[in-house]
Amino acid sequence: RAHGRFFIGGNWKCNGTVESVTQLVKDLNAGSVPPADKVEIVVAPTFVHLDMVKKTLNPPFEIGAQDCWVGKGGAFTGEVSAEMLHDFGIPWVILGHSERRSLCREDDELVGQKCEYALSQGLKVIGCIGETLAQRESGHMFDVLDAQLRAIANHTSLGNWVNMVIAYEPVWAIGTGVVATPEQAQEAHAYVRKWISDNVSPDVAADLRLLYGGSVNESNCGTLANLEDVDGFLVGGASLQGASFISICNAEN
Ligand code: PEP
Repeated sequence: RAHGRFFIGGNWKCNGTVESVTQLVKDLNAGSVPPADKVEIVVAPTFVHLDMVKKTLNPPFEIGAQDCWVGKGGAFTGEVSAEMLHDFGIPWVILGHSERRSLCREDDELVGQKCEYALSQGLKVIGCIGETLAQRESGHMFDVLDAQLRAIANHTSLGNWVNMVIAYEPVWAIGTGVVATPEQAQEAHAYVRKWISDNVSPDVAADLRLLYGGSVNESNCGTLANLEDVDGFLVGGASLQGASFISICNAEN
């Protein structure tokens, strides 16, 4: 592939019981997925379930958290810090998911700061960006992506981009069943790659994996996986179904 190993993220969001997570891990372990040198697969359970998933989920599956605190731990009730995740052996964290941006009021600058701190503590980051339907329809999509990317780039040193993937997740496609068309996905991804090339470096842009997220399922993943600038997916709903997620992990085949 042009831009490195294909990448599949599974975002379990605020879902799961001991029973359902046990079953999902069992289904994933039993599934047939490409080897780790072909596809990198990261699932992100809730903080509560991280320990049990870490103990039971087999390679090549890797694990991530869905968020972390913006700085060093301490008197921040309810938060989980990047250094705790790293200490615990969690390699990845999702930052700037649209649900945190909208429901928890995380703005571009906070997301940028979170990326910087998580990277500084040795975590790898799935940084999420994406416009709302209103922003797209009013012609502001590229302004929004520009601002979101700029905040992340301002906080990411050149050497740290190897530990970063960017997920383009149009908000109107998340959890709605309305997937971006191949043209819409490719247009946004090409914009992101050019932005990174112009504002960070051409080498970083060439190596950076750009994930598409928003109503990806086993039926639409094949077409999207073939797009030039789509290097993987971030999957919400379908990542809770073992069989669907396994199919998506095989999207390139
Ligand atoms: C997500 O939450 O990152 C996501 C893409 O959700 P869904 O696949 O359910 O649209």
